[in-house]
Amino acid sequence: MIDEAPRSPYEDKRAALDRLLRERFGLGAFHAWQREAIEALLGEPGKVLVVAPTGGGKSLTYQLPAALLEGTALVISPLVALMEDQVQSLTARGIPATYLAATLDPDARRARMRDLRAGRFKLVYVAPERLQFDGFTDLCAQIRISMVAIDEAHCISMWGHDFRPDYLRIGDLLERLRPPRLLACTATATPEVRREILERLGLSEGPVKVVLRGFARPNLHLAARAVEGPTESRSLVRHELGRVLGDPARPRGGGIVYAATRKNSEALADDLKKRGWNAAPYHAGLDAETRSSVSSRFAKRSLAVVVATNAFGMGIDRPDIRVVVHHQPPASIESYYQEVGRAGRDGAEAHGLLLCAGNDIALRRRLCQLGADGVPADPAVAAKAWRMFRDLLRYLDAGTCRHDFMLRYFGDEHEILGGCGHCDICVSLDDTVVDDALRAETSTVVRMALAGVARVDQRAGVQAVAEMLRGVANTRTERFGFTKLSTFGLLKTRSQEWVVALMRGAIAAGWVDLTPTDHPVPVLTRIGWEAMRSKDPLRFRLPREVRKDRPGRAAGTVGASRPALDYDAALFERLRAHRNEIARQKGFPAYMIAFDRSLQEMAARRPRTAAELAGITGLGPARIETYGGGFLEVLRGVR
Ligand code: ADP
Ligand code: ZN
Repeated sequence: MIDEAPRSPYEDKRAALDRLLRERFGLGAFHAWQREAIEALLGEPGKVLVVAPTGGGKSLTYQLPAALLEGTALVISPLVALMEDQVQSLTARGIPATYLAATLDPDARRARMRDLRAGRFKLVYVAPERLQFDGFTDLCAQIRISMVAIDEAHCISMWGHDFRPDYLRIGDLLERLRPPRLLACTATATPEVRREILERLGLSEGPVKVVLRGFARPNLHLAARAVEGPTESRSLVRHELGRVLGDPARPRGGGIVYAATRKNSEALADDLKKRGWNAAPYHAGLDAETRSSVSSRFAKRSLAVVVATNAFGMGIDRPDIRVVVHHQPPASIESYYQEVGRAGRDGAEAHGLLLCAGNDIALRRRLCQLGADGVPADPAVAAKAWRMFRDLLRYLDAGTCRHDFMLRYFGDEHEILGGCGHCDICVSLDDTVVDDALRAETSTVVRMALAGVARVDQRAGVQAVAEMLRGVANTRTERFGFTKLSTFGLLKTRSQEWVVALMRGAIAAGWVDLTPTDHPVPVLTRIGWEAMRSKDPLRFRLPREVRKDRPGRAAGTVGASRPALDYDAALFERLRAHRNEIARQKGFPAYMIAFDRSLQEMAARRPRTAAELAGITGLGPARIETYGGGFLEVLRGVR
């Protein structure tokens, strides 16, 4: 397929990939990570695990190499319903492909096996059940296999939410076939699952490239808050829908509200209907006809808001969902990411608000215990489910950027911004950024807490560390000698709850970890040591004092407190790309170059001179001096 004038072999390969992408797949450019994965698959080490969100474009990473390589690519996927589509679209692009599934009649299956034996296909899709049949695996061993691709690879994880026992046969198949190339892809990124995938595919020893990318959703404005109970939560749901979608009679785009139970979804939908919203409930208790009518009305925009349990979502294909509100929290960060990620698929600004009341936590605790169908869950499974939910509570408590929190959770380090500039935390930090005194105090308090963790040195848990910091002399702190530490009493004026919340914030920020022992104790991480020793201000929002600052009825405080700007989104994107590039070059967090808010103002007001830049929020003389010229060039369109 490569027959061009000789340049460097590397350029040839790149050009060939680009051409194939354009001509066969009709796409303009690779996502950077797609090229990275494909090159690692075609070259060294030939073994790749791709972790990217659903809809991110993972299938290209095996379809394109399969089209290029000699032989047939074996694609294992549990989604039989999608195989037909994929095969059709590949065939239409001139890439011969087929699938084998139990749904085919035996004659058709035999015919396809025959063509497969004759090497007529570039790709063959199979469901994992196929691997039970010797006839099929023998055939695989006889033909030329270009690569094996395993889609939804997390199905191999016994701990995952999607375990398929047949996936365990893949290990044996790989032993037998020893394919020259192996690609596994999944959207599930927890380190635990990733480790298990590599292990079960026999990749934990050998060289393997893990490409983990694409979890950043820069157009999503995330916010979360603790509420007192259902009444407050309901009123915040209404407020958020109104704030983002506008007039219920003429909403700007669609909204999804997630509730934890069927009953809640019905009640909340009624409540919204009474207030003029074109809303409907959706849950597994409704008959199939009603459910599909709700889906299709929502897709066709005749329905503005769906109030759903987690049963709603699979295959929602509406790009202009502007807001996803969780009236009650979902089971885990992954579920949250999936559900909130349905907003803003068109790339335009969208909002996600997560609400959680104390009794939602109790409800979830019971659900974890219960398992499916009301049968008590296996204790290990229940414990695991509870752990996943606690991670979500850490997201709720976080004092640092929500966007970065998500990326850190998924391990998508490349896209961490050091503050997205537009989540609720970043907005509140940017509002106070002019107040250097407050930032300095925040940094000092956090450093005191980190020093406390370092001094206690894994001898006691979070509560004891908090007592030590508050200067509480009791049998516990005295027995360990904590009363003699230099950090004893540094946070004397604070309540126990507050210091514990601060510690949770430090855990959420990644500065402190808990040891994986029976009695987990806090320990500083590498970035925790760095944060403690550095002199730079720390970007963190201190917990609110629990009693003084009760969340009031005033629903008007959710999200950005400043009025929304009407700015040129494309220009903003260019400014942001420029800013992020500088941040990468300098190794600074992006917000230190300029806040998103500043860029938005630039995109709205289009300043032309340094003097005009001085009128932009957050741009002081030093920033203008260092970075102003570059921004002006972007604004003038010369960069
Ligand atoms: P995943 O398997 O990760 O869930 P898919 O492979 O089904 O996602 O891709 C989702 C959509 O993204 C498809 O419509 C695909 O054509 C599109 N897509 C993939 N790669 C690119 C790209 N480089 N540029 C533009 N669109 C892409
Ligand atoms: Zn942020």
